[in-house]
Amino acid sequence: MLLLKKSTIFTSAILAILISLPAQANVVASIKPLGFIAAAIADGIMPVEILLPDGASEHNYSLRPSDLKKIKNATLVIWIGPKMENFMAKSITGLHDKKNIEIANMQEVKPLLLKENNLHNDEALVPENATINDSHQYYHGNFNMHLWLSPIIGRLVAIEIHEKLLELMPERKNKLDANLQYFESKLANTNESINTQFKSLRNKGYFVFHDAYTYFEKYYGLSPRGHFTINPEIQPGVQRLHQIRTQLVEQKAVCVFAEPQFRPAVINVVTHGMQIRKGTLDPLGTNISLSPDSYVNFLSQLSGQYASCLNGE
Ligand SMILES: [Zn+2]
Repeated sequence: MLLLKKSTIFTSAILAILISLPAQANVVASIKPLGFIAAAIADGIMPVEILLPDGASEHNYSLRPSDLKKIKNATLVIWIGPKMENFMAKSITGLHDKKNIEIANMQEVKPLLLKENNLHNDEALVPENATINDSHQYYHGNFNMHLWLSPIIGRLVAIEIHEKLLELMPERKNKLDANLQYFESKLANTNESINTQFKSLRNKGYFVFHDAYTYFEKYYGLSPRGHFTINPEIQPGVQRLHQIRTQLVEQKAVCVFAEPQFRPAVINVVTHGMQIRKGTLDPLGTNISLSPDSYVNFLSQLSGQYASCLNGE
């Protein structure tokens, strides 16, 4: 009897402790490259989780109930904003500013935003049977939202994550400072080696499959001739394909890049019978695992993918 009573008291004490413990602190990032930056700054402090599964498109995804829970319980949520991840917009509502980094809305980022390259607007001729979700409609807005491909914005995001985490846990200042410093010096070194790698490639023309790379290309001074489509879910129009084919015939491009997730037959059709190299660019760093070096590994991998096709290796 006494034994039973003791064990009941013990069980309720354990339960009370369990209930009072907060959920484990973590950073939740919408897409992998944002998780790369977070993993550097939160290294040794808290884990980072990614919402978009490998192989999914950043342009259309629906949150699962478990994702909603992750967002609600996160210590800090990092995303681009509703014009990229419209699937997140609703679940972010009500999240405190302290726990939310919306990159497109950061004061330091706004002046750096670049317009979308939709001079040749034939993607607007969407086929009737295309299923267009809200995020596509938003996506046809003004600015290119692939902000993680800008090393300048990448650094600003790192600084912002550092600031927000410092606010939440001032006692970890030394570690947070050291992590930011490490990230910044690695990034500076990587930029230097990418610039060296691209030195002889800056005038080589090429086409990319989807209009994701503008920030990267501007920063490192590459020479894109254009893209097949603004949104990988939407097939390029006939006019666009004709224009690309003409440029390829005139040998204004040495490479056409597809992506691991998107290997559309249309690229083979357009390049049929031509001596043109085909490469792959991965704008999300699908195969890279989270570590303090994952963002610079991602930039290096991407530059390597450009270089190997442009060089003809
Ligand atoms: Zn994209």
